[in-house]
Amino acid sequence: MVTLTAVVAPLGRQIHKHLVKHARTPRWIPARACNLSACSSRLVLSQVHPMWQEPLAIPGGDRQSPIDIEVRKSVFNPHLRPLKVRYDPRTCQQIWNNGYSFLVEYDDTTDKSTVKGGPLEDQFRLCQFHFHWGENNAWGSEHSVDHRLYPAELHIVHWNADKYSLFEEAVMEDNGLAVIGVFLKVGKRHEGLQKLVDALPAVRHKESVVEFNKFDPACLLPENIDDYWTYPGSLTTPPLTEAVTWIMMKQHIEVSHDQLAVFRSLLFSSAEEQEQRSMVNNFRVQQALKGRTVQSSFSPFLREAPPKE
Ligand SMILES: [Zn+2]
Repeated sequence: MVTLTAVVAPLGRQIHKHLVKHARTPRWIPARACNLSACSSRLVLSQVHPMWQEPLAIPGGDRQSPIDIEVRKSVFNPHLRPLKVRYDPRTCQQIWNNGYSFLVEYDDTTDKSTVKGGPLEDQFRLCQFHFHWGENNAWGSEHSVDHRLYPAELHIVHWNADKYSLFEEAVMEDNGLAVIGVFLKVGKRHEGLQKLVDALPAVRHKESVVEFNKFDPACLLPENIDDYWTYPGSLTTPPLTEAVTWIMMKQHIEVSHDQLAVFRSLLFSSAEEQEQRSMVNNFRVQQALKGRTVQSSFSPFLREAPPKE
């Protein structure tokens, strides 16, 4: 974990290098010094990945994600119930490198793998999970806690099967999606994750798909899933629709450096492309809170004692 400032500096250097390199070509150049969350984001992201070069569907929405979670400003809601996760590993189907991350996809034609409870009024069906990560351990997560970033972040994506009949429909609607977010820290090897890590070399290139079965994403949840933050937000990749109830776990999970190294060995590029680009820094820049409240299922005043340095 590091503070956001530690990330802004290297990104600023990247922007500078980028501008110098392309000074002669007509392209968007900031007219004044900018900060990470404002005008630099498009430039940095378009450099990281071509996905961000297209015009965005929701360029100026009021409930965009990801955000920084400020613990002191989050509001304890005692009515937030525990989350009820029930996944059937047999609904796991395949891993797909979509050129931005790898998606572990599930059969979502039935209610076999669902989440309900917590802040959710309806039952939501599991459709896929994926991660975001950095080129090193100093950054990579999309959300942060009191400006502290983690090396990676897991997103388990579900859609509202009580209200909608397809993921494609739910993704466009308010209350259409529920995403569980889990922070990853580098430490001891994660036994549950290893089966997935072992399968990843088969999807090294963009658009490659490999069959993958019997994986229960519940093994990637922290021990304590009762403590979480929740807020109304958006997808963090295009179309960026504001359909998501975010449920961010307070407790992180640990993975080993070697396991994360396998994530970083994947590629943004397809086998045919000459330039092979490492799949790293596949996160969106943080967005303004714009009057939203982050609620917590736990009282921030009953925090655990800080670890001894
Ligand atoms: Zn995500």
